[in-house]
Amino acid sequence: MSVDLKELTDHDHSDECPVCRAQDIVQSALLPAASAWEANDELPHFSVALQGAAELLGVMLEEGISREDIESALGQLLDDIEQRIVEDQVMGGPPKGSA
Ligand SMILES: [Zn+2]
Repeated sequence: MSVDLKELTDHDHSDECPVCRAQDIVQSALLPAASAWEANDELPHFSVALQGAAELLGVMLEEGISREDIESALGQLLDDIEQRIVEDQVMGGPPKGSA
């Protein structure tokens, strides 16, 4: 199975950018759901987030995408997120947990 991970990580700078749309879904639906599951089931903070991320990536492994490619793409995405966090803090953005 060939999946172009670049296509999944690189913004195409259009209004319909699939990377932005996927991020919106995660931020508006997946993140609040993970927090709610942790709270409702009295699980440690971030337990569902971390296990969820790993299991979702595990599906990619199952479908034949190499671990190296996944780790490389994940590293790039984490770099982007770190940069966004720094930018948000510089701009006096919303404090953690306000989303
Ligand atoms: Zn985008």
